[in-house]
Amino acid sequence: MRILVTGGAGFIGSHLIDRLMEQGQEVVCLDNFFTGTKRNLVKWFGNPYFELIRHDITEPIRIEADQIYHLACPASPVHYQYNPVKTIKTNVLGTMNMLGLAKRIKARFLLASTSEVYGDPDVHPQTEDYRGNVNPIGIRSCYDEGKRVAETLAFDYHRQNGVDIRVARIFNTYGPRMLENDGRVVSNFVVQALQGIPLTVYGDGSQTRSFCYVSNLVDGLMRLMNGDYIGPVNLGNPSEYTILQLAQKIQQMVNPDAEIQYKPLPQDDPRQRQPDITKAKTYLNWEATVPLEDGLKLTISDFRQRILEEQSKHQ
Ligand code: NAD
Ligand code: UDP
Repeated sequence: MRILVTGGAGFIGSHLIDRLMEQGQEVVCLDNFFTGTKRNLVKWFGNPYFELIRHDITEPIRIEADQIYHLACPASPVHYQYNPVKTIKTNVLGTMNMLGLAKRIKARFLLASTSEVYGDPDVHPQTEDYRGNVNPIGIRSCYDEGKRVAETLAFDYHRQNGVDIRVARIFNTYGPRMLENDGRVVSNFVVQALQGIPLTVYGDGSQTRSFCYVSNLVDGLMRLMNGDYIGPVNLGNPSEYTILQLAQKIQQMVNPDAEIQYKPLPQDDPRQRQPDITKAKTYLNWEATVPLEDGLKLTISDFRQRILEEQSKHQ
């Protein structure tokens, strides 16, 4: 099969491409390298089954493929708020272009949506039928509303044009290859602890998140793509932690002397988040299996390695 992965040079996309390549698929990656990097894919350069195309999905493109994993979109608040209008264009025009392509070439299309469609949720844990509590005019809206429109587009192309869609609502995912300056909580805390600088907890740290290790998430995406269930389906690890607990865990694991510093809570920061994964279990026979501590160990050792490599370059 030929499989197109948009955003394949990014964190989740590059892990997905590793799995697809290991299966012997032919993979085409489209990326504009906004938050992705060629370094994540370098091991596949020169492989005749792998092709990397520098392309911005806000522009149309013609490519033949059997399946499209549509992941292109910055995922960290720091990056998606850097140029919010571009984030909306990526989610709306970009998704429309990729759905148009799927329609033309009759490819199956999987949208990487997000738990952010639930906004600051009043229902806990979040089930797929919860319609969310999203601020349409806040600083997170470019991403949250952008993904909500992306879901709408997917379902309308499905109803109107018979496009074969799959929609995943991905919850906070972490693991090796997150950018050091990514701004997301796991990468921030790990980098800070490794550098011996204070761990920055926003607010009082009582807000919660549920963290899924990337290999589990990729497995869920592939099961969704290759099964019959359209979704939307929550993919995440239901083990829920406060942000302060996460800081303390990483502090313990990396550097018990690292301090914790409290900073203001960003606007519209969701207070709680935990996936209800009944649908994923029922329809995909999937659940996350890697405990937070094991996933953090792998993530910390990847960051340690990269920081050492950076330091040796500057010596
Ligand atoms: P990432 O920022 O590491 O990867 C996104 C990739 O998309 C990057 O390689 C980037 O260069 C590329 N990209 C961005 N805009 C583009 C454009 N206009 N044209 C072409 N390429 C573009 O993020 P990630 O964590 O790997 O997330 C991947 C997908 O999963 C995103 O759609 C994100 O919304 C979704 N998601 C991720 C999480 C998470 O916790 N990581 C949670 C929910 C949803
Ligand atoms: N957060 C934090 N310190 C940081 C980065 C993030 O306390 O250095 C908090 C952030 O306010 C949020 C949670 O951690 O409550 C998760 O943030 P992230 O940006 O990783 O993802 P999202 O908010 O999109 O779930």
